[in-house]
Amino acid sequence: MADEEPIRSATRLPILAAVADEEPIRSATRLPILAAVSVFVIVALLQGLGRLQGTENALLTLRFELRGEREPSPSIVVLASKTPEGEQGGAAPWTTSGLARLVGRLGSAGASVIALDVPALARGYEAPADDEGTVKLAAAMKAHGRVVLPLLIKAEPTSYRTPSDAVIRFSCGRGKLLRPKNLRPGHLAVPPKALCEAAAGLGATNVYPDADAVVREAPLMVSSGGRLYPSFWLEVVRVHDRNRPGSARLTDDRVALGQRTFETDDEAEVTINYVGGYEHFPRVPYPTMRRWTDEHLREHVQGKIVLVGSDLAGFTSYLRTPTAPMLPGVEVAANIVNSLIQGSMLAVPPAWLQHLVTLLLALLTACLVAPRGPVGGLLVTLVLLVGVAALGVGLFVFDMCVPMAEPLLVVALVGAFLVADTAALADRRRARADVQLQSRLQTIAGVVRLVSSSLDREKLLVEILRWIQGEIEAEASSLLLMEEDGRHLRFEVALGDKGAMLEDFHLEVGKGIAGAVALEKEPMIVDDVHRDERWARDIADAIDYQTQSILCVPMMLHDEVTGVIEVINKRGGRFTERDVQLATVIAQQAAFFLENARLYRELSDRVDFANEELRDTNRRLAAEMARISALLDGMGDGVIATDGRDHIVLLNDVAEQMFELPERDLVGEPVLAVVDQPDLVELFAMPLSPHGGSYETEIVLDEESGRVVRAHISLVDEPGGEAPGKVAVFADITHLKELDRMKMDLISFVSHELKNPIGTLQGVCDLLPRRLPGADEETARLFDIARRQSARMRYLVQDFLDLSRIEAGQSLELEWSEIDDPAQLIQSALEMAKPGGPEHTFETEVADDLGPFWADRNKIESVLINLVENATKYSPEGGTVTLRAFATEGDVVFEVQDQGIGIREADLPKLFRSFQRVHDSTFGRVSGTGVGLYICRNLVEAHGGNIEVESTWGEGSTFRFNIPRRTSTPEET
Ligand code: ADP
Repeated sequence: MADEEPIRSATRLPILAAVADEEPIRSATRLPILAAVSVFVIVALLQGLGRLQGTENALLTLRFELRGEREPSPSIVVLASKTPEGEQGGAAPWTTSGLARLVGRLGSAGASVIALDVPALARGYEAPADDEGTVKLAAAMKAHGRVVLPLLIKAEPTSYRTPSDAVIRFSCGRGKLLRPKNLRPGHLAVPPKALCEAAAGLGATNVYPDADAVVREAPLMVSSGGRLYPSFWLEVVRVHDRNRPGSARLTDDRVALGQRTFETDDEAEVTINYVGGYEHFPRVPYPTMRRWTDEHLREHVQGKIVLVGSDLAGFTSYLRTPTAPMLPGVEVAANIVNSLIQGSMLAVPPAWLQHLVTLLLALLTACLVAPRGPVGGLLVTLVLLVGVAALGVGLFVFDMCVPMAEPLLVVALVGAFLVADTAALADRRRARADVQLQSRLQTIAGVVRLVSSSLDREKLLVEILRWIQGEIEAEASSLLLMEEDGRHLRFEVALGDKGAMLEDFHLEVGKGIAGAVALEKEPMIVDDVHRDERWARDIADAIDYQTQSILCVPMMLHDEVTGVIEVINKRGGRFTERDVQLATVIAQQAAFFLENARLYRELSDRVDFANEELRDTNRRLAAEMARISALLDGMGDGVIATDGRDHIVLLNDVAEQMFELPERDLVGEPVLAVVDQPDLVELFAMPLSPHGGSYETEIVLDEESGRVVRAHISLVDEPGGEAPGKVAVFADITHLKELDRMKMDLISFVSHELKNPIGTLQGVCDLLPRRLPGADEETARLFDIARRQSARMRYLVQDFLDLSRIEAGQSLELEWSEIDDPAQLIQSALEMAKPGGPEHTFETEVADDLGPFWADRNKIESVLINLVENATKYSPEGGTVTLRAFATEGDVVFEVQDQGIGIREADLPKLFRSFQRVHDSTFGRVSGTGVGLYICRNLVEAHGGNIEVESTWGEGSTFRFNIPRRTSTPEET
């Protein structure tokens, strides 16, 4: 079945494929044949009118040149005189007597035929027969027996108007053959009667050049006045051939020459086969001959045809031939005779054969060129031209002179015409293809517009089908989509009378035309579904729909079939390749659209979900924010937070009131543009990284009221790698400050009050041992303890006095003195600080080169006491406390090193601030006030020095201070 109805399939196309060339190159074969015949007729006509003769002649000359020279027959000898006989008006040097001698000598030398090509002889028929020369010549001719004489058909100027008339009149033609012997003068120029009778042959020498004055043909028979006369050279050959088998024969209606026979009509004319140019035949110059011996002459002429003629027969007698521009008449005669005796006359096919061949060539050209494009056609034409030319030249080598102008012209014209026609046709086709492409582009653009329009999916599929159905002019169409299982197709949309009934139908992949297309992924045209066994007849039967033809294309996406489009029953014809391409392009668009629609749905689902999530997060965030701002507002401290660009992100009411900020919503504004309190500006402007990411300071809000806040600012990492933001917390410490002030006042007051009694007490303790010299050891020890404790107390009181001065912002007063016994100073500080426990060992290292220096002895002692007390206090396990004093360049350095608990690194910066204690919770109760190191720092700094600490947690600490090594009081310096 499938064989009877071939299933046509087409390859898939890109979206804008070129229009298919459904048209054959030429719609009908009539035109080429018509063109061939017309051209042939025109060229044959031109040929008939002789318009091609010039070209033909040129081609003949060309062929002679290409062929080259040939060997002449060895039996021809030319005996030539140099005398311009025409000028002399007689036969000189051929006087009849002279000719008689010549004939005699040639005869005795054994010449086979003596052809006297001496036109002057063809005169004098009526002359008296008793002329001596004529008598002698007649006798000589008779004696030889094979002398041929010329006769001339006289021109009758009144009877023709043009030279060509004369040519026709005197060239070969029908007529009754008249034996030369019976010649009558009149229109003929005939030799004297006696000579005519003595001659073995008598022939007309009329040879006429063609219109271009070139001698190509020679007549075999010359007609005049209804009579036929053999030509001079035919007579020569006949006499030469006499008594030879197959010799030339002459009858009324034909001439037989060897194998060839000529009708004695127009055809009794041969095309001369020239052997070459001038002097190609053995030549005996007449004056030379006369001097030759008989023997010498015999060598040259024995058994040969001797053509006697003029070598220089006057300028006009020279003849032009295809091989030489000027050839003497005798040479032309020799060529003609040579052609005849060799049988090598150029064979020219009969005119009807020429025309037939030309016609066939015209048709062949038409057949070969017509189905090709312009370039192919041109090539074929050229090949044919070369072929014809090669054949013409090739045949010439075998003495066949096939006319070439006519066939060449026909081939060239037919070829050129058809090539031009093909080119024009191609142009028209291109224009039509453009129009088709335009129409298709519009259709595709329409579908693309539809696809990108906001139509819903269902509506759009219907529209797409409508486009296809309308454009292809079909009765119905359907769009089937692949089910998820990849094995079934479902009717998604169906148009046409019964379209609605197809909705619930399914089709298995591989079954039905649509199923086959889905399986093979190739478009398909079935012109008669009834002959295709794959056709799903049951569906058509079920909905009772008359189906005839189907065009079905797959919808492809990433090389997968997503569905098929079926177009049913093309109106008024068969589905074409163009229909396939259009449907393919639109099916592709439909596939893209469906995929886009699917992706869009998926995307919008995801967006909906993300939106819901976002709303949830926003709600949570808002609640969080509300909580934070409630928290912030409820705080007693002020808070200002900024982002990495120093824009406010958080701010609570307390901060607003604290710094009297504007009442508008300040979130989002640059903090430095909002605050104007100088300390606050400085706080937010300062880079925090050098301070370990945080910084603390006190800001006096109002000098008069003494309102002070403690500000703590620190960096906060921003999410997403942004520059860190800052959070500043402000605590109002005005009341603490007040308390401090009161505390210092109390301390100052108490210290002042204690200073004098303690001084007195110490004085008493110093005096008592001297007043009681006989006191026992125990009493002396108690005195010593009392003395030391009172001294220690005095130092403590002094510490607090100093502290109150420092806190009150007053400078410490130093009592400068020269210290020339640093070892003593250290020893006394050590003694005063020593609590006397056995677990501690004390060592002192005082450099010898320390020398005297200026300082406040009591204050330096006080610093050392403080440091040694700390060293023992914070070494609960005991260990060695080392005191060192040494000099560096310009400084005196003191060190107190212990092996105690050490200090955490984080606590080190706080150590030298007032009331800072860092160990309390870790080490239970170690008594202390937290002001010792604070006072030490101030005392050292009052000396113009520095104090620092090095400590390792758990291993011990080294406190070190240095003061400038002065050699006098600062005032003196
Ligand atoms: P205190 O009266 O508490 O000793 P200080 O001003 O003398 O006050 O010292 C401040 C804090 O420094 C102490 O509370 C203690 O925590 C720490 N400290 C001082 N000296 C040492 C030390 N040698 N070893 C360990 N911690 C010390």
